[in-house]
Amino acid sequence: MKTVVGNWKMQVGVRESVALARGTLLTLRGRSIAPDLVVCPSFVALSEVHKVLARSSVSMGAQNVFWEDHGAFTGETSARMLTELGVTYVIIGHSERRTLLGETDEMVQKKIVQALAHGLIPLVCVGETAEEHDQGLTQSHLQKQLIAAFDGVHIKHRSQLLIAYEPVWAIGSGRTPAVSEVISAHQYIRRLVSEFFSSVDSLSLSVLYGGSVDAENAYAFLREQEVDGVLVGGVSVKLNQFNDVIVAASEVLEAQSTHV
Ligand code: PEP
Repeated sequence: MKTVVGNWKMQVGVRESVALARGTLLTLRGRSIAPDLVVCPSFVALSEVHKVLARSSVSMGAQNVFWEDHGAFTGETSARMLTELGVTYVIIGHSERRTLLGETDEMVQKKIVQALAHGLIPLVCVGETAEEHDQGLTQSHLQKQLIAAFDGVHIKHRSQLLIAYEPVWAIGSGRTPAVSEVISAHQYIRRLVSEFFSSVDSLSLSVLYGGSVDAENAYAFLREQEVDGVLVGGVSVKLNQFNDVIVAASEVLEAQSTHV
């Protein structure tokens, strides 16, 4: 299977989010083969978007979660609150939160624990900066982030977790790594994560690629066996282009099904 996740960031308000959700459903209409689809609106739009998606195959994710269950934490949102709104996935450790909002590896770990405790599927984002990439430090950076993120975390089944490899320098920049670099990063992530969780065999772990995915390059990433899907930011709020990414994923799945 392939998974396509749209991260709408803080780009659209409630009305536009509802329109995007409706448009996404239209793209899926009549498709017998389609990727697993997850859209991640801002908190304020979750409730209205859920009404649109409620009886569909499209899942809803949140863009963040707090690590406590309840209490005096002004402005924060708990995993329990998110599940009440129909959320099933949550993006954790996005590089924008790490760099702009001071989110540390320890915070990421606590959020993963809290999400899992409430049955949310964490979509954990990891990736190196441009400097680390240029210095050949991609793997050591991924190792540091993943070891910190999963310290003390228990996963019983692979479907409880998604990982997104998102090089920081590729996010929103229009630049992407070579497909071969993505493949080797994904292989490394699989190996490391399967060492952590004996219950998750390395080949079945879902690792998505994110960073300037668009209608033109989506197919080249998605056709690779190592790439279980894509996390799409900027293009996910441009309905036509996001639809093209979904179509690319469907074409890959169709091609794979005819080769079985
Ligand atoms: C993202 O926000 O996770 C992302 C990958 O953004 P973009 O597709 O715009 O690079």
